[in-house]
Amino acid sequence: MKEKLEKLLENSQSNYYSYPVAAILECNDGTLIPGVNIETSSPSAGICAERNAIYSAIARGYNKNDFKRIHLMAKSNKEIMPCFICRQTLVDYCKKDMEIVSYFENKQSIKTVEQLCVYTFSENDLK
Ligand SMILES: [Zn+2]
Repeated sequence: MKEKLEKLLENSQSNYYSYPVAAILECNDGTLIPGVNIETSSPSAGICAERNAIYSAIARGYNKNDFKRIHLMAKSNKEIMPCFICRQTLVDYCKKDMEIVSYFENKQSIKTVEQLCVYTFSENDLK
């Protein structure tokens, strides 16, 4: 997976903040759905690699029951975890036990959505 993430980093569009990130969403059927961050001159118009992968999967007909784990890598080779906008997407569109695997310095760290998002705002709060 590490080699796939390294190759995928080349597709990142990160000319504004120079922070390339790649994500691969692994589905239970073995399908790997790629996502990269796409930066724009107006920061809020861009998208993170994690959300890019999850939204692409949803567009293909997958849902939270199909997601096994998401693999992440930044070109900086430092450990990364999803930003808080992506964490909201993880809470709303992924199961609590889905794993987030971060690759850095020839190591991996693994957290579940539940571990990463302790106090959440979700659809239950809207009822
Ligand atoms: Zn994000």
